[in-house]
Amino acid sequence: MKDLVDHLRDCHELTPEQYRALLTMRNRQDVDYLMQQAREVSQQHFGKGIYVRGLIELSNACRNNCLYCGIRRSNRHVARYTLSREQVLACCQQGYELGFRTFVLQGGEWGEEQSQWIAQLIGEIRQRWSDCAITLSLGEHPRETYALWREAGADRYLLRHETHNQRHYSLLHPAEMSHAHRLQCLEWLKELGYQVGTGIMVGSPFQTIGNIVEDIEFLVDFKPHMIGIGPFIPQHDTPLGRFPAGSVDLTARLYAILRLALPHALIPSTTAMATLATDGRLRGILAGANVVMPNLSPTDTRKQYALYDNKASLGAESSQGLKDLAAELATIGYHINWSRGDAPR
Ligand code: SAH
Repeated sequence: MKDLVDHLRDCHELTPEQYRALLTMRNRQDVDYLMQQAREVSQQHFGKGIYVRGLIELSNACRNNCLYCGIRRSNRHVARYTLSREQVLACCQQGYELGFRTFVLQGGEWGEEQSQWIAQLIGEIRQRWSDCAITLSLGEHPRETYALWREAGADRYLLRHETHNQRHYSLLHPAEMSHAHRLQCLEWLKELGYQVGTGIMVGSPFQTIGNIVEDIEFLVDFKPHMIGIGPFIPQHDTPLGRFPAGSVDLTARLYAILRLALPHALIPSTTAMATLATDGRLRGILAGANVVMPNLSPTDTRKQYALYDNKASLGAESSQGLKDLAAELATIGYHINWSRGDAPR
């Protein structure tokens, strides 16, 4: 197993069987070795500084109906909100004063009639905080909309592919959504010059180890600048709300494999990790993740942005908790890196 880890570290690619072996190995020492190598590679490229991104949850209104997601269109139990321009700018102001130099605007998916409004908002953020990166995570849109937002000043886009297996994709999404269209969106984003992030949920319903192997192969091939991966967590009002949550251990292991395969990638230790385990965020970092995304949304709307049950948004997951986050990172010898943290490539 150590040879496999060394090979992945040195050549950045393995066969499907070899990925499977790393995902399923049980020997503690082998797992520790994988984690240790991933940490070392991460430190070679990024040191012990962890980038922070201020997450602003723009709206929980959504026209899509993903079967796993708590803000899906058919969920009648969520009170829908959309932040006003003033609220978003106030979040940015607060975030800037706290030291954030990346703002992530995330939300449900609205119709294209809202694109212009978002473009104006992006333009205003770009102008007022010109030294900050603007990341969008607003789902699937036509190429023209992505282009409009890019021209308005957006730098990065997060759109998880969710699974590279078409059949699996169709088990997680309604019939009107397709795996092929998701890939098309990712291609457009790349063409338009965004730094692109993609990824999956670990332990999503019906997922097999074989599916995760396919996802690794896709990521190695697509070479995203950012990789967003977190464990699946059921949301009780969704059709998949009775499935068990994914594993923090397997997610961390996947971070480590992907760190060795894509050494320069920006890999957040995600909120879902922190939600499932009190030390989840640190376990991600010890597996080679190098980004965290504290929540900058107004406190009164956070509860309504319930992608899954018990989603962490307080403590070190919030801007108010930055001191806690720094203290938490210090316990493993890491610190916050306040720079913009663009993708090296
Ligand atoms: N609408 C946008 C952004 C919001 S969802 C989009 O779809 O891209 C952001 C991510 O949250 C999704 O890509 C998905 O992987 C994750 N997510 C949604 N529901 C989840 C759940 N029940 N458990 C874990 N992650 C979830």
